[in-house]
Amino acid sequence: MAKSFAVIGDPIDHSLSPNIHSAAFREMDLDSSYIAYRIPKGELDAGIAGLKKIKIDGFNITIPHKIEMMKYLDKADESCSLIGAVNTVSNEKGILMGYNTDMDGFLEPFKKRELDVADSKVLLLGAGGAARAIVAGFAKEKAKSITVANRTLDNADNLSGFARSIGLDAHAAKLGDADVRNYDIIVNATSVGLGNEQSVISLDGITGETIIYDIVYMPMNTDFVKKAKEKNAVVIYGYEMLLGQAVRAFEIWHGMKAPYNAMKKALLGGF
Ligand code: NAP
Repeated sequence: MAKSFAVIGDPIDHSLSPNIHSAAFREMDLDSSYIAYRIPKGELDAGIAGLKKIKIDGFNITIPHKIEMMKYLDKADESCSLIGAVNTVSNEKGILMGYNTDMDGFLEPFKKRELDVADSKVLLLGAGGAARAIVAGFAKEKAKSITVANRTLDNADNLSGFARSIGLDAHAAKLGDADVRNYDIIVNATSVGLGNEQSVISLDGITGETIIYDIVYMPMNTDFVKKAKEKNAVVIYGYEMLLGQAVRAFEIWHGMKAPYNAMKKALLGGF
């Protein structure tokens, strides 16, 4: 039977998810479709009722609904409950089951490169929704310590409190106060870079061993990534996390291995 999927959020016009999933359906010869569905803030209730009515098989959730969507779930997997946000839902005969594939999507590029996260010292820039999934990922992989540096110190304090509650040695700092030389992995999880802005910190002092990960995926070469390349650091791109979370969502919905290369090609074609 034909299956239907969607991504909900606002803004949603520029979402790359329909391209990525449609390419996977073509590659695997699946009779499925995937659309972008704009649901403005405050209209989630009606939006979810509509999706249930058409018996949608599954959907992704993006800004601004990842947290509010939690209350519409009938069940939630461990990562979803831990993070308190959901980005993937499957609909089994009207029962909505939530997952958070951002966490595994974030970790995927480390695994692909065989980079060990355990015992590493992490500097995380940003303390929003994505940063929370990233903290859960570092706890899962047993990082040695994490410093959450953010523009608003209160938000960094909150997130480092969450990190401690799940077993990480965590500290909060103001952006710019952290010394980049003290870290093995530096992640940009702020939204800075989307508009081609300058990186939120200087990367002077990092080495060729430092892992620099920008989760902003558009443009691919943000100023943060460019600065990392100047230092010959190990670079992980935001599109890799986007791809990782889409691959996991595909596997949840279809119960089969995702066609990684076809999905990657479709994603990179969107740039
Ligand atoms: P969010 O919850 O709105 O958090 C935004 C973060 O950026 C906050 O820490 C905020 O600091 C900081 N920030 C915003 N403007 C800033 C500025 N001018 N200077 C310094 N810091 C600033 O957003 P999110 O959902 O976490 O997403 C963050 C970014 O990650 C977005 O660009 C999103 O597209 C990207 N993302 C990528 C993937 C992927 O798969 N690659 C997945 C999820 C998200 P304050 O606390 O001070 O406001």
